[in-house]
Amino acid sequence: MMIGNYYKNILKGGIMAEKLYEKDQYQDEFTANIIDITAKEGKYHVKLDKTYFYPKGGGQPSDQGKINGLDVEYVYKKDEDIFHVLDEKPSKVKDIKCNIDWQRRYDFMQQHTGQHLLSAVLKNDYDLNTVGFSLSASNLRIDLDKQLSCQQLKQIEEKTNQYIYKAIDIESLYPDQTTLGELNLRKEPAVDQNIRVIKIGNIDFSPCGGTHLKNTAELGMIKIIDVENYKGGLRLEFVCGKRALKDYDLKNEICLQLRDILSVPEQEILKEVKRHQKAINTHKDRISTLDKELMNYKAEALKKSADRVNGILIVKKLWTDLSYDNVQLVANILCNQANIICIFAHRQKETARLLIARSENIKAIDASEVINEPLRCIKGRGGGNKLNAQGGGNQIDKILDALNLAYQTVKEQL
Ligand SMILES: [Zn+2]
Repeated sequence: MMIGNYYKNILKGGIMAEKLYEKDQYQDEFTANIIDITAKEGKYHVKLDKTYFYPKGGGQPSDQGKINGLDVEYVYKKDEDIFHVLDEKPSKVKDIKCNIDWQRRYDFMQQHTGQHLLSAVLKNDYDLNTVGFSLSASNLRIDLDKQLSCQQLKQIEEKTNQYIYKAIDIESLYPDQTTLGELNLRKEPAVDQNIRVIKIGNIDFSPCGGTHLKNTAELGMIKIIDVENYKGGLRLEFVCGKRALKDYDLKNEICLQLRDILSVPEQEILKEVKRHQKAINTHKDRISTLDKELMNYKAEALKKSADRVNGILIVKKLWTDLSYDNVQLVANILCNQANIICIFAHRQKETARLLIARSENIKAIDASEVINEPLRCIKGRGGGNKLNAQGGGNQIDKILDALNLAYQTVKEQL
């Protein structure tokens, strides 16, 4: 597609796109002209003569939406230019209809503004600096340079929500150097000209190029949902606005389901889960004791049907009904006695296993040597020592061949 001379001239004249997203952050529909299209790796990087699309920056992801009905995957800024990345090439360049995905944009505005407010309260009340910030479609967190107690964090959360209830206006200021010097900025600006300062009442003055709400009331609520120690300070995960409601929805649903499963009121859920956990652990211990007793019986029964070669008992078996842990347990029980060699195969789902173990007094057999050839039958790999070697493979239909080969090898070496 050819771009008209008029737009080529605009480009030559060095006219930059108007960054309207800085002026009005609530505009989600507009008409613009395409002034350049660059094809890159199968995508089309489109420049407009004006844009409300926010390009990725300052920790905030870019907007998405549509240009001339085509999906805008992401938007980025390079020097002073803003590029909108499209999968398809637009078929026209004049009077193009553009739409911003408002749900996504407003979510970012809520999270980002919530971060300003929370960071401000942390700075004002406890002199904590926000040294890291991360925002995505599913996660919002800040890193702090010092620690706080759980009680202090509760107070911070409470105070931040109080500011939300007070419906405080949020403004964008473009101060001159003198005024800038007089403002009590929470952090140093990242740029040295055209500095924009986001003012939340008299609570916070923060240089920032992102998109923000007009009033704290639009935050709805803020909730810290996770805290961890991080590089000597803290990492806080939190949610604001509709994200907080969604989070509450999820947690409420979990609570209701647990209440029904456990048949206790919500306040009793935790106590009941702990009681169940304790009971499960007691049962696990009991099962483990019974397992050991049962494996002792199985071991003794196997001895009765085993072959005896030169005074050595060769115990051979393919297991399909026991866990591999229990098969190992049977081998240990037997090989703790004198003059016994165990040759066990185990088959479960897609895995075949082989185990060769012997009593300490049978010096003639090196289990780690004997196991090599049989393991090849099942395309397996393994390891071990002279007393005990094990391995697994995926040729489950060859497991009996492997078992018999191991048996023959042992028999010949005794
Ligand atoms: Zn900001």
